[in-house]
Amino acid sequence: MPVPLLDVNAQNHPLEEELTAAFSRVLRTGRFILGDEVEAFEAECAAVIGAGHAVSMSSGTDALLAAFMALGIGPGDEVLCPAFTFFATAGCIARTGAIPVFCDVCPVSFNLDLESAAARLTPRTKAIVPVHLFGQAADMAGLGAFAAAHGLRVIEDVAQAIGATYQGRGCGTLGAMGCFSFFPSKNLGGFGDGGLVTTQDGEVAEQLRRIRNHGMHPRYYHATVGANFRMDALQCALLRVKLRHLGAYTAGRVANATDYIARLSRLPGVGQALAGDGGEAARIVLPQAAADRGHVWNQFTLRVPGPGRRDALKSHLTARGIGCEIYYPVALHQQACFKQLPAHAIQACPVSESLTGEVLSIPVYPELSAAQCDEVIAAIADWLHP
Ligand SMILES: *Cc1c(COP(=O)(O)O)cnc(C)c1O
Repeated sequence: MPVPLLDVNAQNHPLEEELTAAFSRVLRTGRFILGDEVEAFEAECAAVIGAGHAVSMSSGTDALLAAFMALGIGPGDEVLCPAFTFFATAGCIARTGAIPVFCDVCPVSFNLDLESAAARLTPRTKAIVPVHLFGQAADMAGLGAFAAAHGLRVIEDVAQAIGATYQGRGCGTLGAMGCFSFFPSKNLGGFGDGGLVTTQDGEVAEQLRRIRNHGMHPRYYHATVGANFRMDALQCALLRVKLRHLGAYTAGRVANATDYIARLSRLPGVGQALAGDGGEAARIVLPQAAADRGHVWNQFTLRVPGPGRRDALKSHLTARGIGCEIYYPVALHQQACFKQLPAHAIQACPVSESLTGEVLSIPVYPELSAAQCDEVIAAIADWLHP
């Protein structure tokens, strides 16, 4: 039985009637840019996330860019971000003219390592971007204290973590702004591109609304340069249907991840620590959810240490028809486009570099059936003990 890494149709087809009705509703209004559907979607997102304000954007990438623009980040500024994340986190910093300064990550949580960040501070550092990678919150208490001590603004990259919590509080409400994505592979997956910025500050929300609409206020008057970062009314109407199911989607991911951890950890050779981390060397290291965090499992990411081992497991799973992917094969400080950055921005990040050779994400999407889970676990067991 093939097991894809993600099956968007399994999620969307049961909603076909409701989605078609939402499409027809917008079609009949003829209102495709901003308007009621967009406002309703934003209000519903703000409520689900627990944020004071939510401003929709054309993508998660544009949400990040708009957030940096709202802070006035630009040439001469530096912004701390992890080296192990999707490109957009850093790409948006660079597009403002500021310098992304790449920090290493924690090998267990995959999230930003504050010691590494502290070592890269300069008088030009203006902001820090924790990414709640794979669906788990970064260490926001530590990060908040660090940011406060050094006068840094915090922009959360919540693209992979809608619904995730840190000590009971929603990700996206813990910094100055939170940036979300509705790319189809994210936990609230749209029908194309979409994004959102949350903030607790009403004035910042107004500023974001202007930025996404050419900096225009009032009509045809432009005090600042913005862009077209608007999310389609159609996309908002369709996502309103799916937003009502987000809790169930998250519960499905959590159930699958919990099942994987319980059953995979019984296999000899599978553990939650590497040699040197204190325990006996594991051939496959499982991801961990910290006790004070509500992990929403956008990805279930294994570490497979040892030269060629990860690629061997990937080939084995692929041959068995099991979808798996490497998120991410190159650390950002080693990307060609950042070669010209000043040396302190692209210092070695040994953990990120080793993770790129060890990580492998396996299917964890909510609609995964029990039989499909069995299949994935059996394939891993066969690889470990042929
Ligand atoms: C997906 C993603 C983004 C960008 O979102 P898009 O909607 O694809 O533009 C940004 N950061 C992270 C960590 C992501 O995973």
